[in-house]
Amino acid sequence: MTAAVFAAQSGAKTAVIERNDKVGRKLAITGKGRCNVTNNCDVDTIMKNLPKNPRFMFSSLNAFTPADVMAFFENEGVPLKTERGNRVFPVSDKAYDIVDALHNKMKKLGVKIINARVTEVLAENGEVCGVVTDRNVKIFARSVIIATGGMSYPVTGSTGDGYTFAKALGHTVTALKPSLVPLETPGGCAEMMGLSLKNVTLTIKEAEKKKPVFKEQGEMLFTHFGISGPLVLSASSVMGVITPGKYTAYIDFKPALDAETLDRRVMRDFDERKNMQITNGLRGLLPEAVIPAVLKAADIAPEKKVNVVTKAERARLCAVVKALPLMITKYRPIAEAIVTDGGVSVKEIDPKTMKSKLISGLYFAGEIIDVTGFTGGFNLQTAFATGRAAGISAAEEVSRDVPRAGMRA
Ligand SMILES: Cc1cc2nc3c(=O)[nH]c(=O)nc-3n(C[C@H](O)[C@H](O)[C@H](O)COP(=O)(O)OP(=O)(O)OC[C@H]3O[C@@H](n4cnc5c(N)ncnc54)[C@H](O)[C@@H]3O)c2cc1C
Repeated sequence: MTAAVFAAQSGAKTAVIERNDKVGRKLAITGKGRCNVTNNCDVDTIMKNLPKNPRFMFSSLNAFTPADVMAFFENEGVPLKTERGNRVFPVSDKAYDIVDALHNKMKKLGVKIINARVTEVLAENGEVCGVVTDRNVKIFARSVIIATGGMSYPVTGSTGDGYTFAKALGHTVTALKPSLVPLETPGGCAEMMGLSLKNVTLTIKEAEKKKPVFKEQGEMLFTHFGISGPLVLSASSVMGVITPGKYTAYIDFKPALDAETLDRRVMRDFDERKNMQITNGLRGLLPEAVIPAVLKAADIAPEKKVNVVTKAERARLCAVVKALPLMITKYRPIAEAIVTDGGVSVKEIDPKTMKSKLISGLYFAGEIIDVTGFTGGFNLQTAFATGRAAGISAAEEVSRDVPRAGMRA
C-alpha cells in the first residue's frame, strides 16, 4: 500500500492487486490490534534493531525515517503517541486507523484496487511485463512491485506466494524460518503455564559456543508448550535452525542480585523459615509456580526441611535461581510467527530503489525481502521505507520507459 501511494504520487498509473476482499488484513492485527506503527528513534537505532541485513536498509530508511513515517500518518489525520520503548501507536489504539489512512490515501490518488490472487509474474527477455491472476486474467504493466509479505499468519493472506514468483524469475530466496516466535521446551512448561515474569534475564546459549547468542533483561511468560513473551520473541530472531541439544535457555530470576548477595538473601530467608519445607521456604524469593521446577533442577526434594538443607544444596539452588536451564526443542510453527526470517536475497536488490538486479521493471518491498526486525515497530518501519523506495523508483522507471513491443496497458 505504501508502494502504491508513492508510485501514484509520483505520477504512475497504479493498481494494487490484493487477494483478500479487504486491504491490510495483517496490518489490522498488528500490535494486538493497536498497530505499533514505527519506533520513535533515529535511523541508527532502527538499524541496530534489524538483526538481519541492516546495512541494506541504510538508504531507504534515511529517505523515509521514523519521523517521516509519523508525519505521514499524522498528515493523513491519524494522531500518534509514543509509549515505553519508543513504540509509536495511534492515539485511538486502533490499527484500523492506520489501514484506513493508507486505503484512503490510495483512493484519493486514484490507485485501483483489484481483488484477485496473483499466480504468476510475467517477464520476457529479462523484462517484467505484468501478472496473471487466479481468474486467468493477464494484467500488463511496465513495473511490478512484489509486496506479498512473509508466510506467517497465513489467514491474513500472506502465504508466501511472492517467494515462488521471485524464484521463478531467477531470484535467490534464502532459507525461510519463523522469527519473533515462541519456543518449545521438552514437554512444555505446564506447571508454570500462565506465569508472566517482568524482570528476568533470558540467556540463550548455543552448544560449543562460549558467547551466548542472546542475553537480555525484560518480560517473558511460560506456556503449555514452553516459553513466550517479548524476550523470547526477540531471542528467536537471532537463533538459527534448531537441532536437538543445540540451544539451551537460562532464566535468571534475580538479575539484580549477584551470587553472593543472593546466597545471603537465601540464608536470611531460611533462617526465618527454619522449620518449613523448602517449597514454602522459598516463597519469599520466587513465584510459587516456579519453585517445583527450580528444586527439581537443583536436585533438592521439595519436602525437605529448610534446617537440613546442606551448603552444597544451597549452592546448587542459588545457581539454578540465577540460571534455570530449559532445553529448546523447536520454534512454534511459522504460522504463529510475527515475521518470516529469510526472503529474497538482498544481494540481488538495489538498496536505494528496491529494484531487482536480475529483471528489469521488477521491484520488491516489505517482508518478502531478507530483512527482519525485532519487536517495537521495526518491521513496519522497514516495510514503509522499502515500500516508498520501490513506489517512487518504479514510477520513475515507467515515466522514462519507451513503449515495449506487445505491451497493451
Ligand atoms: C500478529 C502480528 C503482529 C504484528 N505486530 C507488528 C507491530 O505491531 N509492529 C510491526 O512493526 N510489525 C508487526 N508485525 C509484522 C508486520 O505486520 C509485517 O512485517 C508487515 O505487515 C509486512 O508488511 P508487508 O506489506 O510486506 O506484508 P503483509 O502485511 O503481509 O501484506 C502482504 C499482502 O499481500 C497479499 N498477498 C499475498 N500474496 C498475494 C497474491 N498472490 N496475490 C495478491 N495478493 C497477495 C496479502 O493478502 C497481504 O494483504 C506483526 C505481525 C503479526 C503477524
